[in-house]
Amino acid sequence: MAKKTIADIDVQGKKVLMRCDFNVPLDENCDITSDDRIVKALPTIKHILERGGAIILMSHLGRPGGVRNEKMSLAPVAKRLSELLGKEVAFADDCVGAETKAKAQALSGGDCMLLENLRFHKEETIKDKAAKEDAQLREAKDNFARELAGMADIYVDDAFGTAHRDNASMYTVPSVMEGKPRVIGFLIEKELKFLGETLSAPEKPFVAILGGAKVSDKIGVIENLLDKVDNILIGGAMAYTFFKAQGRIVGKSLCEDDFLDKATRLLKQAEEVDCEIVLPVDTVIVSELKAGAENKVVAGDIEADWQGVDIGPETRKLFADKLCGAKTIIWNGPMGIFEVPPFDEGTKALSLAVAEAADTEARSVIGGVDSASAITKLGLQEKVSHISTGGGASLEFLEGKKFLCLEILDEK
Ligand code: AMP
Repeated sequence: MAKKTIADIDVQGKKVLMRCDFNVPLDENCDITSDDRIVKALPTIKHILERGGAIILMSHLGRPGGVRNEKMSLAPVAKRLSELLGKEVAFADDCVGAETKAKAQALSGGDCMLLENLRFHKEETIKDKAAKEDAQLREAKDNFARELAGMADIYVDDAFGTAHRDNASMYTVPSVMEGKPRVIGFLIEKELKFLGETLSAPEKPFVAILGGAKVSDKIGVIENLLDKVDNILIGGAMAYTFFKAQGRIVGKSLCEDDFLDKATRLLKQAEEVDCEIVLPVDTVIVSELKAGAENKVVAGDIEADWQGVDIGPETRKLFADKLCGAKTIIWNGPMGIFEVPPFDEGTKALSLAVAEAADTEARSVIGGVDSASAITKLGLQEKVSHISTGGGASLEFLEGKKFLCLEILDEK
């Protein structure tokens, strides 16, 4: 069943506690280098303010490890948000405490306040498993959540990037707010719609593209997709574990020897369910990894002392062919070490192929920071159907995992 959204409830005169993902990149002067995550939260924030609600925003930024660290303060986010909204956004120097509570109480309809980084308090990231086993930890986490929850009448979750975590602000806060409205914001609504519909009712042919560093990170995704997709195109370093499992030599390419059996099993399982796992037919290799390094393309084994860094030109064509005519595409993970040019060529070629397929009406969903940035760098973001804001979260969604913090929110 669909979750209730902020559009389904009355916020007039109410205090709304909203969990956002304001984990923005900062430079050494603590200036925001991309405000994308703030911009993406605006529709929900504006909706609430325009309808007379008062908002208390909360987020984490970085990994301060439970202690105050001015370099990870959310103060620059409050400033940028003020600029974007064209109105003052108050900033509470601590996410909890008497002073913050008083500030929250003083808010009226149409006011907006951002709380300081939740992860300045270690209680935010206490794992539920640890809290179950240790009464003191449980009490600390519950008390922290109660302080946050006590400031508001309504809970809104719009932080998809953190949806796979059991942080206090994501799960414990809405748990202790039982009886009050607990809904999702527009950003999460969009994520659930695109990712959910793509997996539950995909139009065929359905092609998944998986890349990146490790097979071990994506085994769950491959397993969950095997009986849903027609093809899985595998690029990036993941491919070398499959190569080695097939008895091929991979030189000093990144390879996970502990997962060779698993890779063999996945290849067999794929055959059984008639899903084609498509591995690269050629590879760009280098003897030394650096920008512009001497490189060559090989179709078979990779010699000792050489390392695979990208999919080769024939593979780019093959993958583009497989995408041609696809009606549903999901892509997660780069095809090579795309941070080091020219080994970004495979990822670029794939971005263009995905965009082209999307142009001919394939529903295309991009997950993972690297694939998203490849698409955006080439200016192709308008061509694809959806770029997920959650790296780890979108991967867990593709694995078929349930997000507890969303499960407990109100149903429509
Ligand atoms: P992931 O977070 O698993 O999606 O992995 C992304 C990382 O995979 C990027 O930093 C890439 O540099 C890396 N990667 C992709 N292809 C290769 C490769 N052939 N060898 C080593 N690392 C790779």
